[in-house]
Amino acid sequence: MSKRDFYEILGVNRSASADEIKKAYRKVAMQYHPDRNPGDKEAEEKFKEAAEAYEILSDADKRAKYDRYGHQAFGPGTSGGGFGGGMDMNDIFSQFGDIFGNDMFGSFFGGGGNQRGGGGRSRGTRGSNLRIKLKLNFEEIANGVQKNIKVKKYVICNTCDGSGAKDKSSIQTCGTCGGSGQVRKVTNTFLGQMQTVTTCPTCNGNGTAITAKCGSCKGEGRVYGEETVTLDIPAGVQDGMQLSVGGRGNAGERGGPNGDLIILIEEEAHKELQRDGLNVAYELHISFPEAVFGTQAEVPTIDGRAKIKIPAGTQSGKIFRLKGKGFPEVNGYGRGDQLVQVNVWTPQHVSSEEKAMLEKMADSNNFKPNPGKSEKSFFDKMKEMFG
Ligand SMILES: [Zn+2]
Ligand SMILES: [Zn+2]
Repeated sequence: MSKRDFYEILGVNRSASADEIKKAYRKVAMQYHPDRNPGDKEAEEKFKEAAEAYEILSDADKRAKYDRYGHQAFGPGTSGGGFGGGMDMNDIFSQFGDIFGNDMFGSFFGGGGNQRGGGGRSRGTRGSNLRIKLKLNFEEIANGVQKNIKVKKYVICNTCDGSGAKDKSSIQTCGTCGGSGQVRKVTNTFLGQMQTVTTCPTCNGNGTAITAKCGSCKGEGRVYGEETVTLDIPAGVQDGMQLSVGGRGNAGERGGPNGDLIILIEEEAHKELQRDGLNVAYELHISFPEAVFGTQAEVPTIDGRAKIKIPAGTQSGKIFRLKGKGFPEVNGYGRGDQLVQVNVWTPQHVSSEEKAMLEKMADSNNFKPNPGKSEKSFFDKMKEMFG
């Protein structure tokens, strides 16, 4: 039996434009699509035939050869048309991306070509992600910390090892999908009725059915329980940061993969220190005589207490920088500083004796404000602090 003419297969005449050929192929492919003709061998042959015809006629070079030499152009006696022994279904489906556009391809054929490749069936349903809050203090954040925390979550059922079945003999092939894990669903589209491939609702894509359920988990393959998770928190994390620990969330149903554990970092406020990005800010109050004579002050830092020298004549508002006493960069090498702002304490109450002394000093020239060039302005200081 001789091969049918490619133009005839697509139902176009020999002068058809590339666009007309594409449209014609779309129509024929839809008509004979295996999803619409399940088990129909003749339709499948027509579907393949059309794909072959389109393969040649959509390529200008091949079409010209075909026009000149007919089927001979692609080698004698090659039933598949001479391009590598015929197209298999996957080739045809992959061609569809071009013909129908990927959006249509996806929605009409449920991912068609790729699923047909087989082997991609997943076991069970993936567990959901689990979010937990983790409070850390400044010291833990500065140095990084390992935490063992108890997490309440779905864990794999020990009795059935996640299968959900009472025993091995109670696991059988799913009757709804025949073990493929997929079912075909008819949907109405503007091109008529189409069948789409979806995950089998009976077995959730498992391909198996359980005749007797595990008593411990009632067939779910998981139970609500508790697990101790060891978390390695890197140094330098910040409030609001989320760390994801793959596979430590809720166990999946019937042996499905675990969800992730998502750690939301909460920063515990420090009694004395404030965080500003990588830097730490501290407000140091000194007395007026200390500001005049200078002093040695002890300040808290994120790793213990540190001494700083306050020189004589220090103005209120001056900022001292303790290099490297801030937070480390998370996943980096940098480190912030601690900024110590000096505030000179103004007494709120004075005795009559103190009052007399102060009044005596008030007229002294040394006590009159005289901000020289050496004193940085408020704005310069702000720039220095945040720059
Ligand atoms: Zn169980
Ligand atoms: Zn099924």
